[in-house]
Amino acid sequence: MNQTISPSSLQAEAVVVGGGPAGLMAAEQLARAGVAVHLFDAMPTVGRKFLLAGKGGLNLTHSEPFGAFAERYGPRQRWLQPLLQDFGAAELRAWALELGIETFVGTSGRVFPSDMKAAPLLRAWLQRLRALGVRFHMRHRWLGWDGQGGLRFQSPSGPVVVAASTVVLALGGASWARLGSDGAWVPLLAECGAPLAPLRPANCGFDVPAADAGETRREFLQEIMGRPPAPPVGWTRHFAERFAGQPFKSVAIAFNGRDGRAFCRRGEFVATATGVEGSLVYAVSALLRDEIEAHGSATFTVDLLPDHSPERVLAEVRHPRGSRSLSSHLKGRLGLDGIKMGLLHEQLGKDRLNDPQALAQAIKAVPVTVVAARPLDEAISTAGGVAFEGLDTHLMLQARPGVFCAGEMLDWEAPTGGYLLTACMATGVRAGQGAARWAGAVMAGSDPAA
Ligand SMILES: Cc1cc2nc3c(=O)[nH]c(=O)nc-3n(C[C@H](O)[C@H](O)[C@H](O)COP(=O)(O)OP(=O)(O)OC[C@H]3O[C@@H](n4cnc5c(N)ncnc54)[C@H](O)[C@@H]3O)c2cc1C
Repeated sequence: MNQTISPSSLQAEAVVVGGGPAGLMAAEQLARAGVAVHLFDAMPTVGRKFLLAGKGGLNLTHSEPFGAFAERYGPRQRWLQPLLQDFGAAELRAWALELGIETFVGTSGRVFPSDMKAAPLLRAWLQRLRALGVRFHMRHRWLGWDGQGGLRFQSPSGPVVVAASTVVLALGGASWARLGSDGAWVPLLAECGAPLAPLRPANCGFDVPAADAGETRREFLQEIMGRPPAPPVGWTRHFAERFAGQPFKSVAIAFNGRDGRAFCRRGEFVATATGVEGSLVYAVSALLRDEIEAHGSATFTVDLLPDHSPERVLAEVRHPRGSRSLSSHLKGRLGLDGIKMGLLHEQLGKDRLNDPQALAQAIKAVPVTVVAARPLDEAISTAGGVAFEGLDTHLMLQARPGVFCAGEMLDWEAPTGGYLLTACMATGVRAGQGAARWAGAVMAGSDPAA
């Protein structure tokens, strides 16, 4: 039998579902406004992805000027800018400081807690939330609404229905499902009429096409499978065995999309067994993903020696090498070896490797084609979700008054660099404040929609 928890007996004036940074921030706003908040999460503990983010150094936000910061949200800038004006990088740093967490600006302009970790910040935050009276209900998976508008949960002690006039959903995207955000909310919100953009990987890796993806083999597979096979992917076995997991350091990636968008930046990325990943690839990932979706593949170029002019590279390649092998010549004259040489071997045939002009050109712009984004579950973040067009300025669902949405489940995307957490927090603040006003009006017996 369903256990019904009435808002009066539990004082569930407001419910937050999802205990990631967006949900915790919404709960904080509600609790600060004097609303009794119950926070539900499917996992045994809150903030699991936030803690994972802290493993490589928690990049809380970015110190660049506001205009540049807001542009990172691309086409969603117009929706997010007002929220970031209220709660942006400076407010986030001040908020962390209030929790006793000092932050610093790294050389790249990224902002980190001084110990780089997420755990002390989360501990202090949860302490504050408990002190404000937020009640946590873990291992409660939200399953949708019942016929009376109650929130249905699956809990360790069986089904639970919670009646609440004010709800904030902060259910995350759909990457790293084992940490809680699995995107299972999509059909639940679709059913209630919320406009949704398909969930897609963002800040993700890519697969290169297999070197031996011969047409005959594909035709044969299509014949026996009755459908076209997924294109085989991956480097040659030799390259994968020698270089998977190794970084391309001090390189630059350039990409010109057929939709007119262009990218050119220095940094580093990593070769995987089947393709590429890492910070520089994540930075161009939205463009590559969109190009693959539209045209089936995307080709970017890698400048293996961005500090060398093309003329210098050509001169060094042409320099007489006597009896030296090509590899030791390039290592001696240009410092090219390891994975950089491996990529040249992988991408150029023997003839082009031995043609100084073609080789010099490739060193400055070796093309790498990618044919598939890695699966959403592996991505750092998720694009798509609840469309802003279906929300009011307080992020309340027009299709479901009293239900607010925040965080990565909204339809926006941004590169890494602290922009993800900042927008999660900013939307948590906005939704939490809107929810607090709504709950206040309900409690006062006035029309919350007025
Ligand atoms: C490896 C990695 C590193 C990252 N590093 C950074 C970084 O340094 N800087 C940065 O800005 N961003 C970083 N991010 C991204 C950032 O962590 C996320 O954008 C952020 O956590 C999203 O917050 P959220 O509150 O929207 O969702 P989440 O943090 O995903 O939280 C959603 C919560 O909802 C719960 N939930 C989901 N469905 C249900 C349900 N049906 N019922 C009940 N509960 C449910 C989940 O259990 C989860 O606790 C990183 C991400 C990854 C994967």
